[in-house]
Amino acid sequence: MSAAEISREEILRQHEIALSLRASVAGAKAMVRTFGCQQNEADGERIAGELTDCGYLLTDDITQADVVILNTCAVREHAENRVLGIIGSMKKEKEKRPGMKIGMSGCMAQEPHRQEQLKKNYPFVDFLFGTDQVHRIPEIMRDVLGKRGQRQYISELPHAEFGVITEETPVARTSSYRALVSVMYGCNNFCSYCIVPYVRGHERSRRPENVLDEVRELADAGYRDIMLLGQNVNSYRGETGENGNVIKTFPELLSECASLDGDFVLRFMTSHPKDASDDLIRVMASHPKIEDRFHLPFQSGSNRILKEMRRRYTRESYLEKAEKIKSYLPGAALTSDVIIGFPTETEKDFLDTVDLVESVRFDMLYMFLYSPRRGTDAEKMDGRVPHDEQVRRFEYLSGIQNRIAEEKNKAMVGRTVRVLSDGADDKGVCTGRTTQNKIITLDKNIPAGTFCTSVVTDAGQYTLTGRVEENTWTNH
Ligand code: SF4
Repeated sequence: MSAAEISREEILRQHEIALSLRASVAGAKAMVRTFGCQQNEADGERIAGELTDCGYLLTDDITQADVVILNTCAVREHAENRVLGIIGSMKKEKEKRPGMKIGMSGCMAQEPHRQEQLKKNYPFVDFLFGTDQVHRIPEIMRDVLGKRGQRQYISELPHAEFGVITEETPVARTSSYRALVSVMYGCNNFCSYCIVPYVRGHERSRRPENVLDEVRELADAGYRDIMLLGQNVNSYRGETGENGNVIKTFPELLSECASLDGDFVLRFMTSHPKDASDDLIRVMASHPKIEDRFHLPFQSGSNRILKEMRRRYTRESYLEKAEKIKSYLPGAALTSDVIIGFPTETEKDFLDTVDLVESVRFDMLYMFLYSPRRGTDAEKMDGRVPHDEQVRRFEYLSGIQNRIAEEKNKAMVGRTVRVLSDGADDKGVCTGRTTQNKIITLDKNIPAGTFCTSVVTDAGQYTLTGRVEENTWTNH
């Protein structure tokens, strides 16, 4: 067992505590609100699962909730301010119902300055717990119920030791056909702008057999879209074999997951360009169940800025990788992330980014204004780009990217695509996602969680429109 793995005895001990709470909790409701990335969403489902194990019924209505947990994100300042605003507004709810318990989890709860701030300015928050404490929720709830005063459950271990792996803990999935499966946690890369390694700890990989069992169970239970998650999946090193001395890489794990029985699309997030290997591209090309999309964040097109960001690749090596992906996976969508206005970014650096976007022609680009994160190296850098200038560059690049996305989507008109339906909204509009992960509006109401085949009849910047082909949908 790896040092990060929580023992089976401890998991069972927590479950016993959950059982002991059920009589006193009976009928009470809990709400979990998650912000941020898919990794946090996966954590939110585990938090909800633990609360359910304690006997809580889940609700989305704060006025009904006896326990509210805000599962927070610290990747950008804007997200943090939003959470603080929501917490502030919850004070009134708490005054009306003093027995209500308010908790905070996720990346913000792991930041020392937020812990201080919560203690000082938000004393009505009853508890907060760090990203490595989710499996302890039964114990935390037992501790918190019926008591007054804020409690904090935070590990003080250094990065190299901080972080856990937990298996066999309850999960309350929010969808009956889309599922998230963490394959690894944490990050060792320390890109200079990023808070993740500080709040999610060192890299640790789940055993491949545990990942495979989870994917198999999901496929058997009818899940149609399964996403493997890790901050940098290419760093996955799953120990297996009798003594844990056989190491599986991510392409091997992906290939084994894609070889399991069942009709599902297998996705993964996120790849780091320095590590995305030829093996990974080859596995994607050889397994029809793996999505027709490669998400490869480039962050900047300027070699000087990439160095300041500590990304450990160059624009040339990125362009080479993008070309390789296009040649091995000719029908695949290529998507990426970019940070605009990193400290010291000049007009020339920015134009290098524009040039890279024009050269690669991404199907979708997630654009973010640089936001300083406390404790990171970039936060200490001089040469901040003024906000107005960041916005100008953002708008300029958006215009270019929107044109490219529209051209690429229009080129799909007339093609036949496989779609997983998300069903109709309350206005009766049915949408789904293609295997390239593009959103498509369908002309028929196909039940959510059902595959169908559709001909693309029209396209815009962000969505496609499709005509469902007769007799192509089945719900197994
Ligand atoms: S690879 Fe870089 S950007 Fe991604 S989580 Fe790790 S430190 Fe953050």
